[in-house]
Amino acid sequence: MKFSNLQLTTPYLKLDPLFYDKVSPTPLEKPYIISTSQDAAKLLGVDEDLNNDERILELVNGETFLAGSEPFAMAYAGHQFGYFAGRLGDGRAINLGKVNGWNLQLKGSGLTLYSRRGDGRAVLRSSIREYLMSEAMYGLGIETSRALALIGSQSSVAREQWEKGAIVLRLSPTWVRFGTFEYFNSIGEYSKLEELADYVIDESFSYLKEEENRYLKMYAQIVKNTATTLAHWQSVGFNHGVMNTDNMSIDGRTIDYGPFAFLDDYDSNYVCNHTDSEGRYSFKNQPGIAHWNLSMLARALSPLVNYEDMQVVLDDIYANQYEKKYLELMKNKLGLFQEEENDASLVRWLLGTLESCVVDYTLFFRKLSYYNGDNETLTELCEYQQRPLQEWLEAYSTRLKKESLDDEVRKKKMLASNPKYILKNFLLQEAIEKAQNGDFSMVDDMLSVAHAPFDEHLELEYLARQTPKSAKNIKLSCSS
Ligand code: AMP
Ligand code: MG
Repeated sequence: MKFSNLQLTTPYLKLDPLFYDKVSPTPLEKPYIISTSQDAAKLLGVDEDLNNDERILELVNGETFLAGSEPFAMAYAGHQFGYFAGRLGDGRAINLGKVNGWNLQLKGSGLTLYSRRGDGRAVLRSSIREYLMSEAMYGLGIETSRALALIGSQSSVAREQWEKGAIVLRLSPTWVRFGTFEYFNSIGEYSKLEELADYVIDESFSYLKEEENRYLKMYAQIVKNTATTLAHWQSVGFNHGVMNTDNMSIDGRTIDYGPFAFLDDYDSNYVCNHTDSEGRYSFKNQPGIAHWNLSMLARALSPLVNYEDMQVVLDDIYANQYEKKYLELMKNKLGLFQEEENDASLVRWLLGTLESCVVDYTLFFRKLSYYNGDNETLTELCEYQQRPLQEWLEAYSTRLKKESLDDEVRKKKMLASNPKYILKNFLLQEAIEKAQNGDFSMVDDMLSVAHAPFDEHLELEYLARQTPKSAKNIKLSCSS
């Protein structure tokens, strides 16, 4: 199947017109293809090379449409930095329709009813980040929206300075957000909450369709999925940066990549978003914020589901699921597969140690995968002091003796849990600067490692190098 021969459906348009605004994209000037992800295209049933599809550029630019496509923007609201912000909606994203369980969406494709004071555009810089990061999270085994194509253009877009407009073709099994429910609650359209819940069950949780208490069960599943995703973020060192409820996917996957960052040195207080002056969305706050967001979702659903029941579900499931998943992921990273009472405290001890010794989080675990009792290979990563890490390694060595796996097997398993290639901000920044000068080779290179971050890519070793001191744990502007 060729991408341009896909046939889309638009089930969202069967909902009440309050849910969306039908709107056509405004194409960019002099568009050109920067990159495509064949891997993402496979999800749609596409098996022909995207590079040979002569219509791909005009389709991503919104000049022409796939069969069955009927473009629309979605209405939603949200809590931004803790405060209810009223109606937001897709201000610069336009949905095209759905195929094979994936909803296609253009981001940066012009004004919609929900653009407010924005221009409906996305700049090249932020589009490269979103494009690569969606694919990287997938490569790391984390639930996420995907990206199929990235185009650039000569359209000028005003930010702190003039930049060029770009569009990412994003895919997700759902684009419904916590904020979509909040919207209908806030305007008092309670019957629409039910309509939306039925849609969400149909789209994301169809096994609940015939169940009794299905809305409560839907909420429970959202809680569980969100906790699981948060455990992944924390284990891999991902800081989302803008965990507003409008950026929380209803099926718990990671969406809306803005000023995100991977930790360089482990710093639990790290805040990647420059505008987040209070540190609300700091790395260590993320699991708690997701819990708060889930309680806002419960409030929004309360005309439909008993609020106390949802609170019980949230209390019962969230922390348990988060702790269980996080410990499992961290134990995989440490190569510990036996049940031992003190494993959770061994993990906590390590994190405190990495923080006080100032150690690169990703590099530490990758190197630990090769650990053979020689502490120096690891303590040399410490920028500040080595002693605490030495002590931890001694405890770790003792703990390893309780494992029954052969060292080689353990190493192999650890290498499959500890990525070598993480799209750190300094690398993304380099890729962006090159792209702004017309050289997209680094975007291509980064896409390759994004799709296979646990493998060695000998010719792309430069993407695994250490972060220069001046670029460590930098903050990013929200402007995009
Ligand atoms: P974000 O935090 O980037 O997910 O965006 C929050 C809200 O602002 C969403 O409703 C976006 O659609 C909207 N928005 C962000 N940037 C723009 C823009 N350049 N033009 C129109 N709407 C925008
Ligand atoms: Mg958003």
